[in-house]
Amino acid sequence: MLPLEALTPEEALDLRGLLFDLDDTFLEHGLLTCEALTALELLKGAGLELIALTGRPIAWAQTLAHVLPVSGAIGENGAVAFFREGRRIVARDSVSPLLRAERRARLQELIAHVRTAVPGLVPADDSGARISDFTFDIGEHERAREEDIAQATRLAREAGARVTRSSVHLHLTWDRLDKATGAVRFLAERGHDSTEILRRFAFIGDSENDAPCFAAFRTTIGVQNLRGRFHLLPRFQTKLAQSHGFLEAARRISAARNVISPSSSPS
Ligand SMILES: [Mg+2]
Repeated sequence: MLPLEALTPEEALDLRGLLFDLDDTFLEHGLLTCEALTALELLKGAGLELIALTGRPIAWAQTLAHVLPVSGAIGENGAVAFFREGRRIVARDSVSPLLRAERRARLQELIAHVRTAVPGLVPADDSGARISDFTFDIGEHERAREEDIAQATRLAREAGARVTRSSVHLHLTWDRLDKATGAVRFLAERGHDSTEILRRFAFIGDSENDAPCFAAFRTTIGVQNLRGRFHLLPRFQTKLAQSHGFLEAARRISAARNVISPSSSPS
């Protein structure tokens, strides 16, 4: 991975937006910091479209889209989204209401099976606020055993479900979109050229559920606390961790785009 100083002005100026992970990237041990908000203002001032891209539930995505200076938030690892349209925040689901209802019913059956077989895994606090997936707490408040995580992963995959892992949660879902394919789909729906999205949106994250984005997007950044197994590592890495690393990246991108202050933004 390269230091952020290697990001060229040409590449930074070619960017149209930034997709950013939430836990342990934008948030600092789960909390919103001055550094994270300063980073958003810097990036917005640099003329970039900002979109949160998280494994957190649909309810979180809705709130983030409302209260942060972003154009939208994609939740549940790419399955659902909320975007600002004029003065409203509008919901988007990647599947029809009928298919969503079918998948939710099948997910309940799968979770009952997994919980019976792996009683040591504890549901995440936010598991009830989701519509496309179910989450076990593997590092947020619980310290799940690796054997339990492996067994749940194997059982779900044998049943045909998709399993992803973040720094805090293990996600089980019937949805096929991941963070990268979900982001491309929602951005294309909003009128972005689908052939340009992977080149013109940067991504910053920290863990295994970010792997599809690290593999798909051109400008990819891992924060210093990057952990997990990846087919492709991000191209750049910050020196600082979590929201301090996010601010470090925002400063570098802004500087490379030659933006002096947020007040010079064309907004
Ligand atoms: Mg994360």
